[in-house]
Amino acid sequence: MTFYRTPGPGKLQRKISRVYLGFIAGLMGVVLATVSIVLVVELRSSMKTSLRNKAFYVTERMELRLEHLRENIKNFSQNHLIINSIVHPLERGIYLPKMVDDFSRLENIDTVSVLDYTGNPIYSSHPEPPNYRKIFYLQPVLEGGESIIRLSGDKTQVLVIEPIRHHEAPIGAVIAEIDLNGLINRILPKDISEFHKLYTRSTLLISHNYQVDSDYILIDNPVEQADLPILYSLDLWLEMGKLQSVHLKPVFMVIVQLVIIGIAFLLMAAVIASRVGNSLARPILTMVDKTEQADGGAVVRFSPLGTGDELEILAQALDNRDAELTTYRENLEEEVKKRTLKLSELNTRLEQEGEERERALLLLDKSEARIRGIVDNLLDGIITIDETGRIDTFNPAAEKIFGYAKSEVMGRNIMMLMPEQYHDKHVKSMEQYLETGEFSAVGISREVSGKRRDGSVFPMDISVNAVKGKDYRMFAGIIRDITERKQAEQLLVDAKEKAEEANRLKSEFLNVMSHELRTPLTVMMGNLSLLTDPDDLPDAEETLDIATDIEGAGEHLLQLINDLLDISKIEAGKMELKKEKVSARELVADCLFTIQSLAAQKGLELKDAVTDMALTADPLRIKQVLLNLLSNAVKFTDQGSISVTVEPAGGQAVFTVSDTGCGIEKEKVGQVFEKFTQVDGSARRAAGGTGLGLAITKKLVELHNGTIHADSEPGKGSLFRFFLPLETENGNDGSAEISG
Ligand code: ADP
Repeated sequence: MTFYRTPGPGKLQRKISRVYLGFIAGLMGVVLATVSIVLVVELRSSMKTSLRNKAFYVTERMELRLEHLRENIKNFSQNHLIINSIVHPLERGIYLPKMVDDFSRLENIDTVSVLDYTGNPIYSSHPEPPNYRKIFYLQPVLEGGESIIRLSGDKTQVLVIEPIRHHEAPIGAVIAEIDLNGLINRILPKDISEFHKLYTRSTLLISHNYQVDSDYILIDNPVEQADLPILYSLDLWLEMGKLQSVHLKPVFMVIVQLVIIGIAFLLMAAVIASRVGNSLARPILTMVDKTEQADGGAVVRFSPLGTGDELEILAQALDNRDAELTTYRENLEEEVKKRTLKLSELNTRLEQEGEERERALLLLDKSEARIRGIVDNLLDGIITIDETGRIDTFNPAAEKIFGYAKSEVMGRNIMMLMPEQYHDKHVKSMEQYLETGEFSAVGISREVSGKRRDGSVFPMDISVNAVKGKDYRMFAGIIRDITERKQAEQLLVDAKEKAEEANRLKSEFLNVMSHELRTPLTVMMGNLSLLTDPDDLPDAEETLDIATDIEGAGEHLLQLINDLLDISKIEAGKMELKKEKVSARELVADCLFTIQSLAAQKGLELKDAVTDMALTADPLRIKQVLLNLLSNAVKFTDQGSISVTVEPAGGQAVFTVSDTGCGIEKEKVGQVFEKFTQVDGSARRAAGGTGLGLAITKKLVELHNGTIHADSEPGKGSLFRFFLPLETENGNDGSAEISG
């Protein structure tokens, strides 16, 4: 342990001295300045007061003096000897000069003159008196009898003019000149540190002791009428001043004394500061010495210091604290040792845990990569959403199924992948899940509808699983587009239905056919038994009838079998058409030729309107179709006509066979092309027929890539129309009429 020895006791001592001396010096400065300012201000004001008093005194004395002189002059003017001397000119010489001369010897009076009522001097103390008649204010005094006091023209004297009255009438005047300078000198104090100036208006009359460059304290003394009426009427005022230096002397003396006292104080303060500093620093240094000697080893004991004051208490307190600290340090060391041990154990454990965590992370990484690989390569779409329905997994298969890129759906609501009508249901089941924690769709694989990016809706198979983490829940859905499967299923169902229908039709056909075959056979067998009955052999006519019946039944049977053969041949796909170029007109002509005798038998008219055109068709089969339609028409028409038309329309040849026969009921028209259909069995069967003719007709037309349909109204007739395509060759539509 290293202690830095402080650089001697001087530092603390100096610090204390500096503060202490600074404080004392400051205090002295403030006191000195305050005292000086107060003294100067006070002295100036008291000097001004004394000057003012003096000025009052001087002016008052001047007034009194002038008053007194004026009173004397007045008395002089009222002296009866003076009056006599004016009234009685002969007596003047006796006493007037003596009286005037005596009076003029009065202090401050220069000249006294007695004037007659014209202003001419009767006698003057001055051998050459001035011409008083020039004084403009003399006349009013002589006339009005009022005394007057004025400054003389050169302003060095005061003129007092008193009228002389005899029986109240003014008969002359006394005029006395008072020496102003003398008057003032008599009154003014003889102090040369003072100056005095007497003014009338702005004119300087008298100036005493005034030195231009000296510094004076000044006072003006204006004269007021009430106090000093004479001076006021003369318009006099006094200015007095005293030399500043004379009066500031005592202030300087006081300041010098104060400075001396201050220096003495400072010296004392320096000594005291040094002693106080020393007494504080010494025990501290002693403590430092002791600490230094211990040099980090043995326990330091500061006390006893021997000062017996607060420092002694501090030393004791430090000793106690030191002892406590030593104990505390020992305990602390122990504690630190224990903690260090524990920390190193913890450290080892942490290191192990870190390694384990790293291993776990590696495994996790691997497994995540594996899972990602699986998810990305699955053919099924995988979508996960959080509790609020936001998408956070969307694998490539899902992208393919829905047509969205992953970036387009991430963070958006799953509802974007559902058709609108399912949104409500989804919201409800999510709300229910958030309330109860149960999600109705979980764990079941089911078929629902999905919505692709282009808005198309498709069937899909979905199975949803809820995944529950520590602080999160999410749903994972596996999705498969089952559009193709659904289509295949539908095809199967359709095929099955078709097969069943075919089967049903077949049995029905067999049923009908056997019935149809049995009918002519029964006729034949019945008739044959008539021929062969030995008890009742028919005669020749009867035999002929029976034979005719048998023949008819045979023909019917043959027709039936022929038709059946045709039908089965067509249905088995074994009917082969021998197509060739044929003329529509020729075909129709041939058929009309065949049927005309039958029509003639029934008295029916045959009409035809044929636009000839070349057809590529099997002429035998087209004739079969036409003949079938024509024979039906003849068969079901009792009167009227039968017409055949052929015309081209929209690239087709349109064949129409119409009649004016019994017609077919509306609801039955559609059935006439079915096998074994005879619209109303009992009545029509009489007309013969197998009920297969129109079925074969339809098939033959269809084999030629044509269509056929019927239109009919009961009682008005029927119309059968079939369309055959006109095959185009080299741009010709084949509808060109065939010439010849
Ligand atoms: P059939 O050999 O019995 O004539 P078709 O298949 O040719 O059998 O005709 C079926 C049924 O359609 C006939 O039985 C008849 O009832 C009705 N039919 C066909 N042609 C006509 C027609 N021109 N006028 C009225 N009914 C007709």
